[in-house]
Amino acid sequence: MEKREPEGKIDLSVVIPVFEEKESLPELYTRLTKVVNQLSGRYELIFVDDGSKDGSSELLQNISRQDPRVTVIHLRRNFGKTIALSVGFKEAQGEKIITLDADLQDLPEEIPNLLAELDKGYDLVSGWKNKRKDPPAKKVNSWIFNHMVSFFTGVKIHDLNCGLKAYRRKVIEEIELYGELHRFIPVLASWRGFWVGEIKVEHHTRKYGKSKYGAERYLRGIFDLLTVILLTKYTQKPLHFFGLSGVILFFAGAFIDLYLAILWFSGQWISNRPLLLYGTLLVIVGIQFIFFGLLGELIVFSSRKDEDGKIKEKITHR
Ligand code: UDP
Ligand code: MG
Repeated sequence: MEKREPEGKIDLSVVIPVFEEKESLPELYTRLTKVVNQLSGRYELIFVDDGSKDGSSELLQNISRQDPRVTVIHLRRNFGKTIALSVGFKEAQGEKIITLDADLQDLPEEIPNLLAELDKGYDLVSGWKNKRKDPPAKKVNSWIFNHMVSFFTGVKIHDLNCGLKAYRRKVIEEIELYGELHRFIPVLASWRGFWVGEIKVEHHTRKYGKSKYGAERYLRGIFDLLTVILLTKYTQKPLHFFGLSGVILFFAGAFIDLYLAILWFSGQWISNRPLLLYGTLLVIVGIQFIFFGLLGELIVFSSRKDEDGKIKEKITHR
């Protein structure tokens, strides 16, 4: 980690995750500094080197030696974009924070537009690559993914995966990232009551290097979607999630068993009926689900945080 200027408050932090983007970095740095220099206020650039082995690390070190506004953090190995971003967020001191990919697919020149939108009162503004310059397969996958997320979460965002986003500090402080959850920040933020907006941004084909992700990202994305649904809808009330399915399963099983019991009392032989197995299984699984829900409640109860994060403003005459 490099030294930073000691005094003064920082207005804008730009966080850039970098994994093997050697060819793009010089151009990125030049264009980025040109843009942020024209803004009023103090800024810092935070490059998080996510275990690059292509010379990006040395290049970034050189840049930071010449420019005290540049902070470089090298991760021990390649941990993935989510971790890189969350490390960058912890380091960021700005009141506003911008994230930007290092590959120049999104333009640094869009930063003033994002900030202008943020100033309209939004807490988070996401870029929307409405004319994507990516291979067709990736476009289709993204289309399906974005529509699924907006359908299941109710958060109407067109493009979750845009690297270019602007945040107010409080959003970053509220949201904890792990796994591959960086793509869901707008969803998580919106569920926490932050005001989320989006603006169209230009998108370019990758000039140098290649994409660090393949199609399997979208498969994993489905699991992340499940996590997000659970996190946003049910973390405060796990019993509602497990309990409801538990009760439905239990009653389905109980109904089947009741039916078989009536047959048995009326003199029929039931131990050769596969239904008996299903009924009993449903009852047991149902009860277990209800207990999962109760256990979930215990976990939520013992790990609950204070509620300050949910308060927007407090007016008191105390
Ligand atoms: N990235 C990273 N760690 C990784 C993969 C990617 O920091 O493990 C960075 C990468 O250098 C780039 C950004 O995340 O700045 C987006 O990656 P990429 O362009 O490969 O994704 P795509 O544009 O294909 O969605
Ligand atoms: Mg890219």
